[in-house]
Amino acid sequence: MSYFINVILPIPLEKSFTYAITMAEAEFLKPGMRVSVPFGKSKIYTGLVETIHNNAPQVYEAKQIHQILDEEPLVTKIQLKHWNWIANYYLCSTGEVMRAALPNGFILESETVITKNTEAQINDLELEDDEFVVFEALQHQSSLKIQDLMSILDKKNVLPIIKRLLQKEVINVQEEIYEKYKPKLVRYVKLSPRFTSEKGLHELLDDLSRAPKQRDVVMTMFSVSARTKKPIKVSDLSSESDASSSIIKTLIDKGVFEEYHIQIDRVQYDGDENEASKHLNEHQEKALAEISESFKNENITLLHGVTSSGKTEIYVKLIEAQLAQGKQVLYLLPEIALTTQLVDRLQTYFGQKVAVFHSKYSSNERVEVWNNVLANAENAQIVLGARSSVLLPFQNLGLIIVDEEHETSYKQFDPAPRYHARDAAIVLAALFKAKTLLGSATPSLESYFNVQQQKYGLVELNHRFNEVLMPDIELIDIKDKQKRKQMKGHFSDRLITEIEDTLKEQHQVILFQNRRGFSPIVECNTCGHSPQCPNCDVSLTFHQYKNQLRCHYCGYNTIMHKSCEACGSPEIDSKGFGTEQIEQEAKVLFPDHKVARMDLDTTRGKYGYEKIITALEQQEIDILVGTQMLTKGLDFRNVKLVGIMNADNMLNFPDFRAHERSYHLMAQVSGRAGRTKERGKVLIQTYNPYHRILQQVSTNDFKQMYEEQMEDRRIYKYPPIFRMIKITLKHKDYQKVNVGADWYARSLRTVFGEHVLGPEFPPVARIRNQYLKHILVKIPPKQSLGKTKEAISKINISFLSVKDFRPIRIILNVDNY
Ligand code: ADP
Ligand code: ZN
Ligand code: ZN
Repeated sequence: MSYFINVILPIPLEKSFTYAITMAEAEFLKPGMRVSVPFGKSKIYTGLVETIHNNAPQVYEAKQIHQILDEEPLVTKIQLKHWNWIANYYLCSTGEVMRAALPNGFILESETVITKNTEAQINDLELEDDEFVVFEALQHQSSLKIQDLMSILDKKNVLPIIKRLLQKEVINVQEEIYEKYKPKLVRYVKLSPRFTSEKGLHELLDDLSRAPKQRDVVMTMFSVSARTKKPIKVSDLSSESDASSSIIKTLIDKGVFEEYHIQIDRVQYDGDENEASKHLNEHQEKALAEISESFKNENITLLHGVTSSGKTEIYVKLIEAQLAQGKQVLYLLPEIALTTQLVDRLQTYFGQKVAVFHSKYSSNERVEVWNNVLANAENAQIVLGARSSVLLPFQNLGLIIVDEEHETSYKQFDPAPRYHARDAAIVLAALFKAKTLLGSATPSLESYFNVQQQKYGLVELNHRFNEVLMPDIELIDIKDKQKRKQMKGHFSDRLITEIEDTLKEQHQVILFQNRRGFSPIVECNTCGHSPQCPNCDVSLTFHQYKNQLRCHYCGYNTIMHKSCEACGSPEIDSKGFGTEQIEQEAKVLFPDHKVARMDLDTTRGKYGYEKIITALEQQEIDILVGTQMLTKGLDFRNVKLVGIMNADNMLNFPDFRAHERSYHLMAQVSGRAGRTKERGKVLIQTYNPYHRILQQVSTNDFKQMYEEQMEDRRIYKYPPIFRMIKITLKHKDYQKVNVGADWYARSLRTVFGEHVLGPEFPPVARIRNQYLKHILVKIPPKQSLGKTKEAISKINISFLSVKDFRPIRIILNVDNY
């Protein structure tokens, strides 16, 4: 009998690939273990065993695997099921899901290794100079890597030399696999056993009488280990004895100290003992009881609790209950900005049981979290993480909390898998027979609709903690203010007065503007020229701080010229405004106060967010200007006033979700005001104060917003009534995209008729020199999703079989956001 495995490769292949294994390997291997396998002509990939079986592939001869890389599965059976669901539902390959799930450190790299060809007779006179250098090096070293060759030859391109040496049969070339993850090792020392007796120690100290520094270190070592009875870190010993590491090294070399290394995790919590969780107030108690009741019948429950109602404290109680049963909990957050505050909050209750997982972590750190979750370790009972943590190897999951479930950033946009973490979380929970709690002050229409359809349970919490009133929201008509000349820059007189009063009372202010940079359009007053990105069809945004023009789509940047590049006129104006401009105006208007900014540009680096959030918490900042980044669930105790600088550009955004999203954003950012004692105030500046959404925000009328938006979605056949798949065609040739998109849309129409929209260019039709064209397929409530996808896949295959169309990239986005 022959043995085979199906292997998932980290590349977009339709199917998993079959490899041949021996019987012994078949006995050893389990699904979820990594193997390295040859693929194509010369590549070696890290793959994951999916199944083990006896069926030879039909159309190709199975190759042998290269190497087995794990002793135990790295990926669980449930994960494999979950990944398959994601691949199926979101129309991508399991390999792409694996690529998103596995930290880089687990995907081994192959590297070219050059060795001496011992079988050949070499006449070194036949070698050219550079070849001889390599040949020589191989006499002293058993193998060389490309990197080594480059430094030996002092050249970048060494491939021609390798090729020549291969032809002359001087060398062999192999691919070697190596692991990228490196455990972090900490150096410890202890006193050699010879000196631990009193006699030994005295002799040693006598010996060292002429080396007083070394003697001091030994004394310190002795007293520390007497106190702690533990080995000591070299770094601690060095600081306690005030000795350089070279002195410690001398003692190690002399054999006085023994040195060893201990593997530790890079991210560790070393805070205080746990605090008891808070006593819930009666409303929270009631909500908690209702959630537990709801979970008796429902697997998914939505907690709709107004901002600052104390939802987080309810989650804490639910987590406690899970831990008591020995279950793991996943706590999902939409943004890293939020984790900063929440990590602190959860760690005071749960100490080192909390593990954090997000994209700003290094690959090594992610490997460690992965291993801890997989081992169901004590320090990974609660995983707090962003989107990709739904892909972790949980063992015993009892509950998933999806906080701020309405956030659109839960949907991955690019690359595949284009999954929605909330929906993937619900499926993951189901695989564990666990519960999912969705939480939000402004639920998504999708989730609220599911409540109405009785698919989810609903628990409401309408009281803010401490019975603080919901903020008082005032709409300011800036058209009117401009007419009356009551604007200073982008600040209305009302806003200025309110800011002044707030600052006088020692409270803080948040100003929200959903665009970064100084101004999104720069225009010449004389000739009308406006600098555009050379790679994208979009105006460049002016960033004053760096005196740059930047493209927010591709990152292109150039310096801002003092005069028009087209006509030379010095009269250059900017239109529209971003956070930088608001920050600058605020600095001028309130010169005695500290103004700071939080947006993508100021939060780079691993601790970018933390610095600003901590500064605001510690009241080192009086006015914080920011983008939507600061709307998301942050809890600041002293912020009393929130200003929304311009509500209109959100509302006018060309997207069917724009109104819903504007409601979410404004209601959420308003929720940052007045969270602890006194009622907060929100000022919304707009050209259109009678807009329904603004009225609904100001009266906090979620239900009315929901009803009206749903009415629109019904009429125009949009989600959540209809489902939607967006197909994007992408190519650098404008004509190709046009012709391809027409063909594609026509084929779709033969199947789906009127439910196909487009093809249409998006507002920014060219990004990074690639033209984009969208086609939308709307799926009526009763139409089978599976059959729809099958039909699309078929059309996709025939499309790609047309030679002319093959270079066009097709992006399928299911439930697109
Ligand atoms: P939400 O998540 O609903 O916006 P939070 O959980 O952040 O609300 O709570 C708002 C504020 O009230 C926080 O500062 C929190 O510490 C405080 N808080 C909430 N519940 C309690 C409680 N039961 N006891 C003491 N403080 C609480
Ligand atoms: Zn000009
Ligand atoms: Zn660009």
